[in-house]
Parts: sequence; structure tokens; C-alpha cells
Amino acid sequence: MTAAAGEAYPVELSPPDLSQYRNAGAGPDYVISYDSQTDGPHVMLMALVHGNEICGAIALDQLLQRNIRPNRGRLTFAFANIAAYQQFDRRYPEATRYVDEDFNRLWSADKLDQPADSSERRRARELRPLIDTVDLLLDLHSMQHPCAPLGLSGPLEKGRDLAIAVGAPAVIVVDAGHAGGRRLRDYGRFADPSHPANALLVECGQHWAKESAATALEVAYRFLAYAGIVPRDALPETARAPLPKQQVIEVTNRITVRTEDFRFTEPFQGLEEIPKAGEIFAHDGTTPIRAPYDNAVLIMPSRRLVQGQTAVRIGRRV
Ligand SMILES: [Zn+2]
Repeated sequence: MTAAAGEAYPVELSPPDLSQYRNAGAGPDYVISYDSQTDGPHVMLMALVHGNEICGAIALDQLLQRNIRPNRGRLTFAFANIAAYQQFDRRYPEATRYVDEDFNRLWSADKLDQPADSSERRRARELRPLIDTVDLLLDLHSMQHPCAPLGLSGPLEKGRDLAIAVGAPAVIVVDAGHAGGRRLRDYGRFADPSHPANALLVECGQHWAKESAATALEVAYRFLAYAGIVPRDALPETARAPLPKQQVIEVTNRITVRTEDFRFTEPFQGLEEIPKAGEIFAHDGTTPIRAPYDNAVLIMPSRRLVQGQTAVRIGRRV
């Protein structure tokens, strides 16, 4: 797949029917939780924080159908922005990221405690008490462009340690999130360096590429293997296969769109390196955007170039 920015990528994945998970327990709809009644961490596997990122939903549906159950602690499967997902239309696959606002920019007390209302805030408030009890969160996402899978570890050392301990994906991005609002992976205890609760966000590949669903499932198995809450024989061999060599990229700059006319100089897809400091790789109105140093790596260049939102992150290989 080599479609340029602005072109549509093929929708190779089909959104699974999740209706069976609607009333799956005493908690919120589309949340399925198994408590082993034995000591151990509360592990949450999360999909559909963005309604059109269907690879995570496919992976969780497959795990549920395979009857993966914890023998320690608690295992929760959650489909987050189900209202957006239910509107998914493969003719307009970009359109259902959210209904009213980005679910992944709401995760600070100020936003969640405000009276302001939206489809996403209602769902976030519904899930919040449960998320407050999660010790280990895997948050499955996908990307606008085809790009190697990325583990977004957040800014803390504990997040990086978790990404390394899980062992996949091979590329770890150490980043602090967005100017537009706090991500779920950076919410509450996950962002407290002195608290053991931890989170990993994984960008599994292009939103609708077949291999993104396979990546989501593999990462979920690896995460469960790391968490140690399901019997070893419930996990496939692939969860114990040799790990790829990981590399860490530290995000140093976040480029936020300032004008109505932001454009990249090339159809970047992510992980490209700008060889020379000062080289122009985008324009925001009349302002050239330059590489801050040699070998600057572009992380997840956006196709949604909206004022106040992140256009791209710049990182350095460490
Ligand atoms: Zn996402």
C-alpha cells in the first residue's frame, strides 16, 4: 500500500458484530470482566478508544471467543467508543473516529468533572470508576498511514519499562501526548511515577490493513503473557516466540497546527528521518517547519490537519 496523503487506503478488515457484549455483566455495556477470585493485577484490554480503529475490536472479539480467562487477578475487555463504532461505514471509514469529540483527549479530572456533555464524555464517565481500578492497561489503536507498529509508552520510565517487558512492538515511542487533551494512557495513576499502575498504547498499523488485526492479537497475547494472569497453555506459541529487537525513539517536539493551511512537503507516513537540522518538512501558513536536529524522526504525521491538533511529533532514536 503506497497511497499518498489524501488518498484513501483500502478497508481490508470487517468490523465484527459486538452486540453479544452489550449486556455482558453488571458493569457498563460492552465491558466484559472476569474475576479469578485470586490475588493478582486487574488487567484491562481496551479497543475502540477511536471508533474507526477496528483492529483492536477484532483482536478482543477473538480472545473472547477463545474463552481466555484469568487464573489470577482480574481480566477486563472493554470496547470504548461503541457509539462511534456503531456508525462505522466502510465507504467513509475516516468519519467515525468519534461522535462529538476525541475520547482520547478527555482523561484529566478537569475535563471529566466538568458539566460539559458529549457522547464521549458520557462514555468516559461511565468507564472511569472501572479504569480507576486497573493495574495494567493495554490500549489498542491504529494509524492513518501504513507504518511499522508503535508502542507509545508515555513520558515516564515505568511506561518504557513496560513496553520493553512486553517486548512488542519493536518500535517504542516515548512521548507526552497532545496539546488537545490528556490520553487515557496518561490518566490518573498511569501518569503517577510513584504508583505501580501502568499502561501501554499500541498503534498496530494502518487502520484497516489486514495485518493490523494480526498485530493487535499478537500484542494482546504478549501483554497477557507478561501480566501472568492467564494459564500459560491458554496462550499460543507466538506469545512466547523470540522477541524482536526493540528500538526506542524519544519524542522531543510536538508540532501543533496553528493555521488553516498546514501542509507537509512530502506524503510522509511515519518513521521517515529528516537528515539535516534546519531542513523544511512542512509549512504552517507562511511559517516553514524545520527539522530541529539531524536525523529527526517523524512520528505519525496526521492527515487531520486541524488547528490546535497535533500535526506530527518529532523524535530522536536513543
Ligand atoms: Zn487511536
